[in-house]
This record gives sequence, structure tokens and C-alpha cells, in this order.
Amino acid sequence: MILTSHIIISGILASKTQNYFLAAAIGLISHYVLDAIPHWDYLSDKFETQTKTDKNFVKRKTFWREIIKISIDGLAGFGLLAIFVFLDKDANIAPLIIGAFFGILPDALQFLSWITNWKFIKWNLLVHKFAHGLIHKKINPCFQSGVMTQIATIGIVFLIMRGGI
Ligand SMILES: [Zn+2]
Repeated sequence: MILTSHIIISGILASKTQNYFLAAAIGLISHYVLDAIPHWDYLSDKFETQTKTDKNFVKRKTFWREIIKISIDGLAGFGLLAIFVFLDKDANIAPLIIGAFFGILPDALQFLSWITNWKFIKWNLLVHKFAHGLIHKKINPCFQSGVMTQIATIGIVFLIMRGGI
């Protein structure tokens, strides 16, 4: 899923606990669970291959164009999460931030793996691949349905956590 979805969902889920470790675990685990759900993402396979193979990729415009997209995505997520905090006065702010941070950590680690090939974070690549392969890759949704699944997931989590369901 895109960072916005990960940030909102992991943040909302973690905001219900006061335990920082639990908040981190919620963020991390929710990431892989959410990536199993069929979704649309803007990062192309080409970006992955180029990050891995092209040592001069950081000097290219295409690389920075993707970085801008990632930054906007991340900022949008934290912006929407701030609205949630405003709406839910019972939200535990520190666990919410920890949850949101750990909720996007797997994607940051994946990116780091592509660049560095570090062995000690390879587990994240494997879990990521496994999660994506469960349902998402088999269905391979189009843009509309891939966006809808993310909006629906955010909506369901939001309603459940507010006691609306
Ligand atoms: Zn991911």
C-alpha cells in the first residue's frame, strides 16, 4: 500500500494503546497485513531495478521525481493522521506516532535493501515478498479498485476503532 494508507491505519491502531512496544509491533505487523490486501502503488518495478543496479541513479531526475512522490505521500499521511488526532480526543499521541513510524519502516528498510543489499535486513524483503504474494499479486488490481481497497480499509479501521461498528 502507499505510505498514506500505512501511516493512517497503523497510527489509528496504535493510538489505542499506551504501550510503546505494542505500538511499534502494531505498526510493523499491520504493514505486512495491509500489503497482502490488493492495492495500487505508484512505485514502478523499473524504479526498483534501477535503484538496485544503477549506481548513478541518485544523480538522475527520475530518481528524484520518485522521491518527491514518496515525500508527498508521507506528508499527506501524517497530515491526515493529525486530523484524526483532532477528531479523537482519546488518541494516545506518542504511541500513535510510534505506530505510524513503524508502519512505514518496512518500506524504508526495503528501499535501503535495494541500495545496500545488507544481509541483516533481508528478512524484511522476504516477509514483504510473502505478504504481497498472498493475495495482492494474484489479483493485481487496476488503479480504481486498488485505490478503493485502501480507502475502504482506512474507513473500516477508522469506524471499528471509533466504536462505530
Ligand atoms: Zn510495503
